[in-house]
Amino acid sequence: MTTGLWILGNQLTFDSDLFQLQDPDQDPDQAPDQARNQPIILIESLDYARSRPYHRQKLVLVWSAMRHFAADLRDRGYTDVTYITADDFATPLLNWIADRQITTLRLLDPTDFPFRRTIEAIALPDHVAIEWVANDLFFWSESEFIAWATGRKRLLMEDFYRHSRQRFEVLMTPASDQSGNAEPIGDRWNFDKDNRKPPKGRLNPPPPLTFAPDAITRDVMAQVAALGDALYGQLEPFGWGVTRSHALQVLDDFLTQRLPRFGPYQDAMLTDEPTLWHALLSPYLNLGLISPREVVAAIETAYRESNGSDRELPLASVEGVIRQILGWREYMRGLYLVFGEDYAQSNVFEHDLPLPDFFWDARKTDLNCLRCTLSQLEATGYAHHIQRLMILGNFALIAGINPQAIEQWFHAAFIDGYDWVMQTNVLGMGVFADGGKLASKPYAASANYINKMSDYCRGCTYDRGDRLGDNACPFNYLYWDFLDRHYDRLKSQGRMNLILAQLRKIPDIDRQRIREKARRFQAKLSQPSKPSC
Ligand code: FAD
Ligand code: SF4
Repeated sequence: MTTGLWILGNQLTFDSDLFQLQDPDQDPDQAPDQARNQPIILIESLDYARSRPYHRQKLVLVWSAMRHFAADLRDRGYTDVTYITADDFATPLLNWIADRQITTLRLLDPTDFPFRRTIEAIALPDHVAIEWVANDLFFWSESEFIAWATGRKRLLMEDFYRHSRQRFEVLMTPASDQSGNAEPIGDRWNFDKDNRKPPKGRLNPPPPLTFAPDAITRDVMAQVAALGDALYGQLEPFGWGVTRSHALQVLDDFLTQRLPRFGPYQDAMLTDEPTLWHALLSPYLNLGLISPREVVAAIETAYRESNGSDRELPLASVEGVIRQILGWREYMRGLYLVFGEDYAQSNVFEHDLPLPDFFWDARKTDLNCLRCTLSQLEATGYAHHIQRLMILGNFALIAGINPQAIEQWFHAAFIDGYDWVMQTNVLGMGVFADGGKLASKPYAASANYINKMSDYCRGCTYDRGDRLGDNACPFNYLYWDFLDRHYDRLKSQGRMNLILAQLRKIPDIDRQRIREKARRFQAKLSQPSKPSC
């Protein structure tokens, strides 16, 4: 009887039950010889990489991190580590099973429906059993989240987040003697209002921490370069970290350089300042190189240690980022599991416009906010939350782009994109394709919002203040047209009443012109476009 471990590309940690199950009391560094001789496989599948036009840096990140993890396993004394680059997963897996006479294939659940189906479709020999280990790379296990969600009328993030703070005792005062209840530190759960400052000119944030590619990464870069033109984005300069040590350095950089000012400009967008004070931790969290528990614990410790010093960390910033990781990240992954596989087909507005060419080539649009965000994405694979939500998602929503097309694009283009995090973020939060299962209203906005929160409009050829003229900003007429087109559906969303009342005040003749402009713009989007610069 031989158990073999298959480590998937986004599970690059020793701190999971996959390893602990070998011996529940065992530190993986001190594992006995028997465990260290256990066959382990990691597979780099080229077909998987060819399945969509991934960002080149995303492939480099995942494959280089996998290769470094395999090297780390060997360094720690694991004697039977197989690392294979092959077209598909099945062939090397079946060869390895036969060669090592494996009878049980043990894997950590990928938290990703399509990938789990891919694995289940592999025809294993009859004598081989699959043992799925519950994924413990999140605060909440799947069954715990489902228990929390079951029977609730609305699955509100705020309720979930407060419950998580209490459950995991994060940023809470000790329970008082009188009530027996712990209270949130600072007597407030939410500091969002302090965290939405519009930028007034350049903000000069610290530059992101980058890492020069080592020999392993350079090999992977050569392999990705050889995959040719079918991929997306720039291969170089590649500065992402690829090991746990790098991820810990990024965390340290966040705690010391970025956390003190994380909050106030969380929603700001500036040309040439693409990362502001954001954490840049999602690529590493999503690969398993660092765990959400240790990130949240490190943030809270830094906050408590700074108390009373002249470098005291602002609670609004600390709460702001903990809300993202303990709140939003866990909530989005939990809802992905609760909503199930059919959620991927959500399209409540029946939007069917194909993805415009310029999403693959920023030079092909002259809308400056889109061009800046997409150029940055091409260069790094990264855009921060508000660029994703209020520029890319917002545009896809109000222009009427097919939700599945935009979700596929996000999945391919972003350095941190995986099915579990994409579906709810793009379909639910980004383009409201689920009709409000997740968000209480669509994140739709005109140039007014973009101009307030960014410097993009200043460098744009369109007139941000106009919605009808020849040079009117497309975000303006597309926004009002979106509200107009879907008026009947939107009026059932309570939070839309005010804005729909404004729509009703627009004279019929102007509404007609808005419709005509929107139709012309959409018709142009459907045609192949020429580069604009
Ligand atoms: P920060 O802004 O510094 O936040 C800190 C951490 O909080 C992030 O590292 C991330 O782990 C977590 N976080 C915050 N918001 C979310 C959220 N809504 N969902 C999950 N985690 C969250 N996140 C991804 O990890 N992968 C994606 O592919 C992805 N696609 C997105 C697509 C859209 C349309 C939207 C609106 C959001 C998406 N997000 C995604 C969520 C969020 O934008 C990114 O996690 C964040 O921008 C990553 O950058 P950061 O590490 O600098 O984050
Ligand atoms: Fe974007 Fe319109 Fe502003 Fe131009 S004017 S940057 S298109 S919102």
